[in-house]
Amino acid sequence: MRRLKILMLAAEAAPLVKVGGLGDVAGALPVALRKLGMDVRVMLPDNGMRVPAAYKVRRLAGGTLAWGGRAERVTVRAMKLNGGLYYLVGGRPIPHDGKVYGADMAGDLRKFVFFALAALRAAERLQFQPDVLHVHDAHPSAALYFLGTAGRQQRFWKFTAGVLTIHNLAYQFNGAAAALEAGGLAQCDDTRIPVYARTGLLALGIAAADCVNTVSPTYAREIRRKEQGAGLQNLLRARRPEVCGILNGLDGGVWNPATDQAIAAKFDVRRLARRRVNRDALRAELQLPAAGGPLFALVARLDWQKGLDLVLAVAPGLRALGAQLVVLGSGSPQIAKQLRQLARAHPRSVVVRVGFDEALARRIYAGADVVLVPSRYEPCGLTQLIGMRYGAIPLVRATGGLADTVVNVAVDPVRGTGFMFNYFSEPRAWRALQVRAMQADFSWELPGRAYADLYAQAVRTRRTGAAR
Ligand code: ADP
Repeated sequence: MRRLKILMLAAEAAPLVKVGGLGDVAGALPVALRKLGMDVRVMLPDNGMRVPAAYKVRRLAGGTLAWGGRAERVTVRAMKLNGGLYYLVGGRPIPHDGKVYGADMAGDLRKFVFFALAALRAAERLQFQPDVLHVHDAHPSAALYFLGTAGRQQRFWKFTAGVLTIHNLAYQFNGAAAALEAGGLAQCDDTRIPVYARTGLLALGIAAADCVNTVSPTYAREIRRKEQGAGLQNLLRARRPEVCGILNGLDGGVWNPATDQAIAAKFDVRRLARRRVNRDALRAELQLPAAGGPLFALVARLDWQKGLDLVLAVAPGLRALGAQLVVLGSGSPQIAKQLRQLARAHPRSVVVRVGFDEALARRIYAGADVVLVPSRYEPCGLTQLIGMRYGAIPLVRATGGLADTVVNVAVDPVRGTGFMFNYFSEPRAWRALQVRAMQADFSWELPGRAYADLYAQAVRTRRTGAAR
């Protein structure tokens, strides 16, 4: 069979760019797909970021893009990474400020619409004609809208199928009329889309893609309902083929306590006792006193979504149980302030670190007993998966991907992988729980195959449409 060619567009892809789970997924999925024999190329906006010399960056010709009535130059920096090609695509509307997401929405809309269209131009220049254009989230979604409109008449793009993966329905990037116009895209009058969202990048992507998925089956169901549909539930329900859910995997090479360079003592299920070294080291690093109770951890963007207010509310209860708590996060200054107040009031049991710190996150996963994920909603969630991989038992809210990835030990004591507090006082049961959690299979193999099927379906859908 001919090698399937996939062009992936995303705002983040680890190890180059990572703000949250999107970076992990767009980093790991191409690797899984390459293992299935696909030629996967990833394009990211070039915000002028510094790229390690080891990646051997080359500058390529990107051509020009008609933008706001003039020909705007498209820049391309290319490199080989993880066995595949990555391109940083830039141009004047993408500021060289090193920021993934800026503070100003109008600027971001311009930047991402330009990126989406410039990426397509770059692919043409590279003569890389993909079978599937796979867009992650709203940011590059204008590319799907192009495929669904003008792209249908262009030989180069006529047979390219569009796939959209929704990682978070809340970030819709509405109000992009000016940017869409600058990019020469037609106005949308699709009556399935609420009027306000007809200039919204995510809604246009959902409407235009041949196939749409999200990152867990439960979230795929939840977003069809009004409560979690963020205004797009009718559009999501109207879509054919239906919006499906493909659970995220976890890159076992990137997240592995047996090889992790950032942690004090490497371990695996056979050397689980060594985990304690990591917990002691973590307490020492955080200046927490030694204690007999469990160490709870939360690693997250500081955002309403993540339910940190619930943690603030239960903090007295945790302390009463002799537990300690560490929170690592960056985001809302307001939430950071509340957390800092809590830590100041209880220096012996609560530590808060504000900032993005990958190495500390790893030491937390390796040393904490419990990973808290009290999210209000969670499309998939990776911190519970990483926690499980590192023997830190997840305590999660039953929503979205959390419900799909954690087996509640209170309901299923034999197969449980999630937290029940009582278990902590029973070392043997706790250890068995850790072993099951660490051995739970979240490799990218299954989701890789599911994406392969989704691509095939998208290609079929596009072909049928194009033949009509
Ligand atoms: P989301 O994508 O909503 O941010 P996920 O749980 O899917 O949430 O993914 C979060 C990812 O970002 C995980 O890899 C987590 O370890 C990482 N992360 C979040 N906040 C921080 C931080 N402050 N420092 C280091 N890593 C972080």
